[in-house]
Amino acid sequence: MRALVKHAPGIGNVAISDVPEPECGEGRVKIEVHFCGVCGTDLHVVHDTFPNYPPVILGHEFSGVAVEVGRGVSRVSTGDRVTVFPASAVICGKCLYCRSGNFLFCPTRRGMGHGVNGAFTRYAVVREDQVYKIPESFSFEEAALSEPFAAATHAVCDITQPQPGDIVLLSGPGPIGLLCLKLLVSMGIQTIVAGLGMDNARLECARQIGAARVVNVESESLLEVVRQATEGAGTHIAIEAAGSTASLRNCLEAVRPMGRITQAGIFGRNVDVPLDLLVHKQLQLFGSVGYTPRTWDRVMNVFAHGKVRLRDLISDVLPLSKWEQAFDACDKKRGIKVLITSQDGE
Ligand SMILES: [Zn+2]
Ligand SMILES: [Zn+2]
Repeated sequence: MRALVKHAPGIGNVAISDVPEPECGEGRVKIEVHFCGVCGTDLHVVHDTFPNYPPVILGHEFSGVAVEVGRGVSRVSTGDRVTVFPASAVICGKCLYCRSGNFLFCPTRRGMGHGVNGAFTRYAVVREDQVYKIPESFSFEEAALSEPFAAATHAVCDITQPQPGDIVLLSGPGPIGLLCLKLLVSMGIQTIVAGLGMDNARLECARQIGAARVVNVESESLLEVVRQATEGAGTHIAIEAAGSTASLRNCLEAVRPMGRITQAGIFGRNVDVPLDLLVHKQLQLFGSVGYTPRTWDRVMNVFAHGKVRLRDLISDVLPLSKWEQAFDACDKKRGIKVLITSQDGE
C-alpha cells in the first residue's frame, strides 16, 4: 500500500513509499482509513522539531471503517465506522499515569504518526481500546477531526471548566481555537475571539460559529473591546491558543482579578510576559495538553447529541499524492483544516 513515510532521521526525508499492509494481531483492529487530517505535529515531524522514530508513517487524526478484528476483540466489529485515540499507541500500562488514564505522561509513550505508524495510508492497525465508534449522524470527514476536537474538549471541559455567565477571551483562531469556540458556543458561553490581520478568514469563521465578538488586534484595541463587554471588569477566563507572546500578554491583561488563564498554544521558545500580573491579580494559570479516554467518551457524546458540527472547519480534502500541497496549506495557515484521503483510487 502507498503511505506517506518519514524514512530517515533529520530534516525532510518524507516521501510516498510502498509499504507492506499491516497484519491484524490479537486484540487489534484493522481500519481502512477514509480521511486523515494534517496537523502541526505532522509538520514538526517533517522539520524534525518533534521527536520521531523513522521509518514511520505520518498522520494521527483519522476516521475509517473496521475491516478486520483480531482474536479477543469484542467491542468492535467489522463494518463499524470508527475513529482512533492515537496518542496511546505505545504505553507501559503500569505507571502512575497509565493507571489513571493520563497516558500523555507515560514516560515510555509513543503516539501514532511519529512514534509508530500512522494513517496517511490505506490501512492502520490499532489496539481495541484505542477505537471509538462514530455516531450514526457524523460523517467520516467530521470524525477525522475527533483528535483535535478532543484536545479542545480537554482544554475547555477538563481544564478550564467555564460556568454559565462567564465571559471568555479566546486568543488565537487556529484549528484548536475554533474547535474550543465550537464547544464554548454550544455551552452558551459568551466568547470574544482575538486574532491578527492575517487571521481575517478565520475570524470570519469564528463570527459565523457564534463568537460574541471577533477582534483583529492589529486594527482594534482588544482591551477596549473587553472593557466594554465586561463593564470594565475584564473577562472571567482567557484561553491562549495561538502560542504567541503578544497573545499571552493580551490574556494576562484582559482577564479580571482572580480570573483563570488556560495555556493551550505551544510557543516553542522562551517568552517574555508580565507574569507579575499573575500575582497582582491573583490569577490561576493552567496548561492543557492532549486528552484522556474520558475526554474521548465526552467527545463521542457531544457528536451524538448533534449540537456541534465540524463540516465548516474543513477547508480542503486532497488525495495522498497531493500531500505536499496539503502540508503547505497547513504551514501557511491557508484554510482551517485540511484532510487527506487515500480513497482516491490511485
Ligand atoms: Zn494533531
Ligand atoms: Zn505508563
